[in-house]
Amino acid sequence: MTAEALPAELRRAIVQLARTPRLLVASDYDGTLAPIVADPEQARPLPESVNALRSLASLHETTSAVISGRALRDLATLSRLPGEVHLVGSHGSEFDVGFVHALDANAKALLRRIEAELEEIADGQEGVQLEVKPASVAVHVRRAASEAIGEAVLTAVRSGPCTWEGVQVTEGKAVIELAVVETNKGQALDILRHQVGATAAIFLGDDVTDEKAFARLSGPDVGIRVGAG
Ligand SMILES: [Mg+2]
Repeated sequence: MTAEALPAELRRAIVQLARTPRLLVASDYDGTLAPIVADPEQARPLPESVNALRSLASLHETTSAVISGRALRDLATLSRLPGEVHLVGSHGSEFDVGFVHALDANAKALLRRIEAELEEIADGQEGVQLEVKPASVAVHVRRAASEAIGEAVLTAVRSGPCTWEGVQVTEGKAVIELAVVETNKGQALDILRHQVGATAAIFLGDDVTDEKAFARLSGPDVGIRVGAG
């Protein structure tokens, strides 16, 4: 989309935003920079998006970042974004400067319990994938052999380990994630904003989990929701 094709109201907001002394440009990854594909391990960013983030990062007093639900290592490998673009993984529990929350013994034990329970739930459910991250486990049902299998697994997860004390639940499209630390993209956006001393921010996202980041926007900030709905 060219700048001329943008709705007038959005164009005005962006022109205003560009005048801020110190700008933070943050974006979600899947469904925003990279089209959704059946195999999550093949989700590559659009070249135009990579170029835009790189150009923004090279601008004076401008920081660009990607905040994703993916594990940081995954995000770095898949996105192949240049080092100037900051990466934040696992909905904000992993920053590229290091793992923000060191897990205590209780959290580690809870994570192992969650993993064991989810393995049991997913056992024999064709196409259902578990993704184990440093502080959470995600259950992906996008590639489940049938919609019924995916729904049954999600229901079992919601009525099972999701109800355990200390478990933080994040739901997305065909994915549910159980974490042992409180993390969300809104918090991640706030941390980035503070770190770079941004006077305004723009955030782009497409999913339910991005709403926590949209909710933290105020004043001259701009939020862009990608896709329909
Ligand atoms: Mg997304």
